[in-house]
Amino acid sequence: MATDIEGRLARELPAYARRVVDALEAAGYEAWVVGGWVRDALLGAPGHDVDVTTSAPWQKAAAVLRAAGVAVHETGTAHGTVTAVVDGRPVETTTYRVEGAYSDRRHPDEVRFVTDVREDLARRDFTVNAMAFHPERGLLDPFGGERDLAARVIRAVGEPRRRFEEDALRVLRAVRFACRLSAAIEPATQAALEACAPELDQIASERVGQELDGILATGRAAWALRHEFAVLAAAVPELAPMEGFDQRSPYHAHDVLEHTARVCAGVEEFAGGRPLPALRWAALLHDVAKPACWSEDVSGRGHFFGHPEEGARVARRVMGRLAIPGEVTRAAAALVLLHDFEIRATAPSMRRMLSELEAAAPGQARPLSFALLDLKRADAVAKAPKCMGYAVELDAMTAVLRAELSAGAVWRVRDLAVGGADVIRERGVEPGPGVGMVLAQLLEAVKADEVPNRRDDLLAWLRW
Ligand code: ATP
Ligand code: MG
Repeated sequence: MATDIEGRLARELPAYARRVVDALEAAGYEAWVVGGWVRDALLGAPGHDVDVTTSAPWQKAAAVLRAAGVAVHETGTAHGTVTAVVDGRPVETTTYRVEGAYSDRRHPDEVRFVTDVREDLARRDFTVNAMAFHPERGLLDPFGGERDLAARVIRAVGEPRRRFEEDALRVLRAVRFACRLSAAIEPATQAALEACAPELDQIASERVGQELDGILATGRAAWALRHEFAVLAAAVPELAPMEGFDQRSPYHAHDVLEHTARVCAGVEEFAGGRPLPALRWAALLHDVAKPACWSEDVSGRGHFFGHPEEGARVARRVMGRLAIPGEVTRAAAALVLLHDFEIRATAPSMRRMLSELEAAAPGQARPLSFALLDLKRADAVAKAPKCMGYAVELDAMTAVLRAELSAGAVWRVRDLAVGGADVIRERGVEPGPGVGMVLAQLLEAVKADEVPNRRDDLLAWLRW
């Protein structure tokens, strides 16, 4: 007897996925939808990719699906996975399996195929991820995932300590799902993940990077910084000195960690919940070098000279190690570098900001200019109350930036209405580096409103 919820899930299961399940079952195998789709559909968000788990060995699954007219790609046959493509939609289809010992705490030594779906569910990480659904048989939930999902609890399947020892990446996954679902982590699971967090240094750094990027993408990095800092610092040791670092500055009411958490929350708010990935990384890392750059003056006040430059270096190093795409890394490092760059609500100041961004992250200045203002705004409201007024000034700067960009702002040599050939002809300079130097001077003059970016005016400037 199907419950209302099972009826809803059956209706919401996309037809392309249903076709995969039905084809396998018509051939005498068992097949279930598992993992993320079931979890998200129970939450009322059935947009997740569909993964299927089946009793059919992958060779048989591939043959059955092909016979049913479905395209099949052998995407991960070593662990029993093929990808069926129906109406252009991929459905990962994996044979019931369990994992063998994890002697290197990273990769299972072996994958063993099994015949009972419950065994397959038991190898999964958290109860909310260990449910299977079939449109007629309903929900298969041996570990209470539906209850934990409703209560917003992340709980390891089985004995937590053993599960994190098998695969330390699950430590970060627990934090990612807690952020994503606004869930709490069940106490025994929390204790085990704290104990196993140091093992994250055994995990391939690009996998760590993917999970961290996933945590930032939930928009709840602030929660992770406040509640799971030991995990984040185990994943990125460069973060560790932020905790408890007293800034001894009249501009700061919080330690670097709490300030950073507030900035992470702030960029979500100011960017309408959709900040660029680079802005999220920059919020996390903008003050990472403050502890290393700290100095005290005779009055006992703290200073952080050079922390944006050093922070940008740390950002490049950390994000490079975590295999975050180069474009995102360059953009995040540019934002960290310029987060204290002084700006005013004038067109020349906005053009200078665009040029600095262009130099640090070529080709990304326009989107990053808004991101930088959001970062500065979040930074201002996360400082001492007396700094918050600056956030209002930033609104005026944003208005100037918008006006300037829509009027065709000039911040690159290529935006000038003249080119190298004009310099050679009008100035009589030889082709070579001298031409670039003249263009750079001209660009500065235009940015400072000394000459309008009109061809006649620029030619006159060249002749003068
Ligand atoms: P997302 O939307 O983040 O992709 P997901 O649930 O699909 O969520 P995946 O990482 O794609 O998560 O993994 C698919 C499923 O495989 C999970 O729901 C979980 O059941 C299982 N799984 C993935 N990684 C692990 C792991 N390291 N240990 C145990 N089970 C895992
Ligand atoms: Mg997935």
